[in-house]
Amino acid sequence: MTGRHVLNTQGASVSEAAVREFLSSVQGRVLRPGDEGYEAGRRVWNGMIDRHPSMILYAAGAADVAAAVAFSGKNSLLVAVRSGGHNVAGNAVCDGGLVIDLSRMKKIDVDAGAMTARADAGLVWGEFDNAAHAYGLATTGGLVSSTGIAGLTLGGGIGWLMRKYGLTCDNLLSVNIITAEGRELTASEKENADLFWAIRGGGGNFGIVTSFTYRLHPVRDVLSGAVLYPADSAREILRGYRSRLPAFPDELTTMFLFLTLQPARYLPDHLRGLRAVAVYLCHAGDPQEGLRAVQPLRELSAPLLDTVAVMPYPRFQSMFDANASPGLLNYWKSVYLEALSDACIETITEHAEKMTSPLTQIHLQHMQGAAGRLPEDAMAFSHRSALCCLNIVTKWTDSAESGRHIGWAQTFAEAMGPYAHGVYVNFLGDEGNDRIRSAYNPETYKRLVALKTKYDPSNLFRLNQNIRPAAGG
Ligand SMILES: Cc1cc2nc3c(=O)[nH]c(=O)nc-3n(C[C@H](O)[C@H](O)[C@H](O)COP(=O)(O)OP(=O)(O)OC[C@H]3O[C@@H](n4cnc5c(N)ncnc54)[C@H](O)[C@@H]3O)c2cc1C
Repeated sequence: MTGRHVLNTQGASVSEAAVREFLSSVQGRVLRPGDEGYEAGRRVWNGMIDRHPSMILYAAGAADVAAAVAFSGKNSLLVAVRSGGHNVAGNAVCDGGLVIDLSRMKKIDVDAGAMTARADAGLVWGEFDNAAHAYGLATTGGLVSSTGIAGLTLGGGIGWLMRKYGLTCDNLLSVNIITAEGRELTASEKENADLFWAIRGGGGNFGIVTSFTYRLHPVRDVLSGAVLYPADSAREILRGYRSRLPAFPDELTTMFLFLTLQPARYLPDHLRGLRAVAVYLCHAGDPQEGLRAVQPLRELSAPLLDTVAVMPYPRFQSMFDANASPGLLNYWKSVYLEALSDACIETITEHAEKMTSPLTQIHLQHMQGAAGRLPEDAMAFSHRSALCCLNIVTKWTDSAESGRHIGWAQTFAEAMGPYAHGVYVNFLGDEGNDRIRSAYNPETYKRLVALKTKYDPSNLFRLNQNIRPAAGG
């Protein structure tokens, strides 16, 4: 689909007069098929996604977003909302319809005295972290510096500071949001509190957030890094890791990985291409206490490499960037685990041994701490009792091999069925309604449907992990 007609959800063209009126009402640049920049603009992080929107609006501010919402509603356009473009499901771009792209909206104001930051939705975590770090402050954010603050926050926000300071959404104080009616609202504990409850975990279902205000914490340098071990003793090392989890202080957030070591500046030549397991860790507290807390993780076996050191928080925050290049073919499967039984460890290890691509990684992110202590009904984000979040991050480069890699991930995910307790909404691909439901506990899901019916009865915001409004709502 490369024509310049703007197509609505029925496949009919919107009149050029209506399109011209819209174009004259917005400040931001609009791209249509054939325009310079359109091809790059329609790409998202996951190279599996190949869609052709009728228009891409690079919104210049909240007024542009409101105008785009009104235009889309009036002309029955399919709407995709894009901030960082990282979501693996690729819902940030559509076929036909309009992409409302917020990636040019990048203002951030840090109030060091109040320890808060008001951040435009187009920022990515690297930009946010660097701005806050200038004041010795941070909040929980994503592990890769190019992930958007918007999508990550609205789905929850798992990160290196979560066991000490909670998830990203736990640190959200308020948002500025454009509703499906095109109204600009503030949502916080005091204003539109039901909407504020819904957007903290409910994703992009309830409106387009143009800015976020976060609580910040005093975090400047962190004891952090990776300890790599050989994969042939993966079972014993993972069992050793499990046995140490209960003693971890809140300051310590860790992740266990299965991976093939890729060329990196810090990696000696003889380790390149080797199958390994790793513990990545971040201690956000006193470094001396940190050294004591992380020691048991540095001697799970004889390490291949140990990079643990005190470093500026933003530096550790970008340590995964090399493994997250845009444009690779990606297929993810994820579940929460309430426990790591021997049988569960066996299942994970057995499938890890059959990994089909050297770019694939298996992540076991340890949760709990402050992230696990808020009441389950505090906000839409669910499954706070999970011990770990397992993510099968399948990546490859040759599309002719897609079936093999996807097949491996699906077989692995099926085998994890007996141990699964829900899923993190931000790691979902295009996996259907039952999987979306399983991202929430049943009471939360019911309440989300009621709030979707209130705030977006016609389901204008449907390109997301969609919570459908009640029929006739
Ligand atoms: C390399 C990589 C690393 C990741 N690391 C982490 C991690 O450490 N922790 C973690 O929790 N998650 C992580 N994720 C998952 C991430 O949280 C989600 O992919 C998230 O959706 C990305 O947000 P985005 O703004 O970049 O995405 P986009 O693709 O731009 O948006 C995703 C969806 O969010 C909604 N949305 C986006 N912007 C807005 C807005 N302004 N208002 C309303 N709705 C909006 C839309 O429905 C959109 O389809 C990672 C993903 C990748 C690819």
